[in-house]
Amino acid sequence: MELLDGKVVKQKVLEEVKELVSNLERPLGLAVVQVGDDEASKVYVRQKEKMAGDLGFDFRHVKLPENVTEEELLKVIDELNLDENVDGILVQMPVPKQINSKVIQNRILPCKDVDGLTDINSGCLVHDKDSLVPCTPQGIVDLLKYYNIPIESKNVTIVGRSDLVGKPLASLMTNNNATVSLCHSKTKNLEFYTSNADILVVAVGKAKLIKEDAVKEGAVIVDVGINRQADGKLCGDVDFDSVKDKVSYITPVPGGVGQMTVAELAKNTYKAYTLRKKLK
Ligand code: NAD
Repeated sequence: MELLDGKVVKQKVLEEVKELVSNLERPLGLAVVQVGDDEASKVYVRQKEKMAGDLGFDFRHVKLPENVTEEELLKVIDELNLDENVDGILVQMPVPKQINSKVIQNRILPCKDVDGLTDINSGCLVHDKDSLVPCTPQGIVDLLKYYNIPIESKNVTIVGRSDLVGKPLASLMTNNNATVSLCHSKTKNLEFYTSNADILVVAVGKAKLIKEDAVKEGAVIVDVGINRQADGKLCGDVDFDSVKDKVSYITPVPGGVGQMTVAELAKNTYKAYTLRKKLK
């Protein structure tokens, strides 16, 4: 078994972006809007801020109170949409109940939508048109490509159909000529699909859901899940110790997919800059 090391690939991607942005007329602008005090969100925003600082981006951290109204949040997005020096905008999820996340995500100009969650970018992805693609799925594909793991004609099973990971990944894998099964909480006989997968991606959020008897000999395992155990340590949705002697490759948690997500955000920010340049 070989580890798919997200840290190594992240470093490579970040170096490539650093090179690309080194001669631009101004620093790339990345705005992250955070609503409330969700603990996990704070960690994710800090990771993004660090990446942006390392690459010399102009990082705007817009913090709004938990009780902000949808209207107030939309106004903030409108201002960022109009700001010439802001290339990428994202709203850190989750947002409080009074705010409709779909409405918020779709207010971001598609050409600044570095999370790739607007209906326009989602539609482009389905139709295999060049667009801003959600960071985690793109990171998974880049990780597999870095390790020369073929996708074409492979049976790819994805467990979890969120808008952030499973659904866009199903499109990306289809666009890469894989045969895709997209499984979820209503799937009957999940094991039938997981044990037939050449590449198994699990994005559910349930610690150690997938064990050795549910994976195929020699499969490639991509574990997206991040779960906090009782002892405080993180683990994935796949029981690493149970499957490790049966599979060919596996992503560690932490140190796998999560590393790629922030690297892809850097890439998307550069891409958003080039998209707007083309529009001018
Ligand atoms: P989500 O919570 O929005 O959705 C979970 C999905 O799992 C749903 O589609 C549901 O139908 C499915 N599901 C639930 N129970 C199931 C079961 N028993 N069998 C089969 N399917 C089941 O998912 P999300 O936002 O994609 O997050 C999933 C996990 O991935 C979480 O642990 C999250 O923290 C993690 N995550 C990691 C990264 C990263 O960068 N590594 C990025 C995003 C999410």
